[in-house]
Amino acid sequence: MTNKFPIRHGYVDSGITRLISYETHDGHMTRAAIVKRPEKTIICVSTQIGCTGTCRFCSAGSMEIVRNLTRHEMTHIVYDTLFYNPGNVPVLVSFMGTGEPLVNAEEVRQSIHLMRGARTPQRLRFALSTSGVSLHELERFPQDVKVQFSLISPDSSVLEAMTPQADNIGSILYALCEYPGPKEINTPLIERVNNDHRTMHALGVIALSCGVDVKLNRFHPVNTQYTAAGNEQQCLAWLRETGAEAELYATDGEDIMAACGQFELR
Ligand code: SF4
Repeated sequence: MTNKFPIRHGYVDSGITRLISYETHDGHMTRAAIVKRPEKTIICVSTQIGCTGTCRFCSAGSMEIVRNLTRHEMTHIVYDTLFYNPGNVPVLVSFMGTGEPLVNAEEVRQSIHLMRGARTPQRLRFALSTSGVSLHELERFPQDVKVQFSLISPDSSVLEAMTPQADNIGSILYALCEYPGPKEINTPLIERVNNDHRTMHALGVIALSCGVDVKLNRFHPVNTQYTAAGNEQQCLAWLRETGAEAELYATDGEDIMAACGQFELR
C-alpha cells in the first residue's frame, strides 16, 4: 500500500531554527521549519507544492503550482515535527511556508480541526499568513486563529506589481479591519519598493484605523531581484511617528530563510 504520509528527508539547522524537508508520496518535496524560543515553539508548515501567488519578491513566486497539500499531509508534518522536538512550551502552528493557505483553505481548516481533536503534550495554537489572496475564505476559519496579513504596500500600483494575485487594496483593508480574531500586519522591508516615508506613514495610519500592530520583517532575498532595505530603523521610526504599534523582527526570517514562501535553500 502506498504510504500517503510525507517522509522526513533531512534538515538544515541554523542553531535556533531547523528547516526540515519532506518527500510526499508522489515524489514532491515540501518543507517545514521549527523555531525554538524560551516561551514557545513555532512550527511553520507549507500549504501547497509550488504556489499560486506569483509574488515577485518571493522564492515561491516563480514556482509552478503542482498541487495543494492535504489536511493529512500537513497534520502529519506537524506531528512528526512535534515528535522529534518534545517539550512542554506552547506550540504555535503557523501556516506560512510555501503556498498561500487561503487558496487551500478547506484543507488548512480541516488540518486545524484534526490537530485540535488530537491529544498532544503541548498546547497548540494556530496562525496563518496570507498575501491577500482569496480573503473571503477567512470567514470560515475559527476566530481564534491568528491571521498575519502580509502587506507589502498600501499603494495599489505597488501591490499589484508585487503580489499580482492578491485581492485589491480595498478588499484587503476590509478583511484586515473586519477579521474578529487576533491579527497583525507583516511587512518585509524591500529596497526601493516600500522603504520610504510615504509607505510607512500609510501603513501606520491603516494599523491605527484597524487596531492592529505592524511587524516589519527583515527581508531575506532568495531567488529574486529584490534586496533588503538598508534603512530598517528609519522605517520603524517613520511608522511609529503615526502612533502605531510597530516592531522590527530581525531574526525570524533570517533563521527560517525568511517568511512566506522563502523555504528555499540559498
Ligand atoms: S509570498 Fe506567499 S503567496 Fe506569494 S508567492 Fe510566496 S508563498 Fe506564494
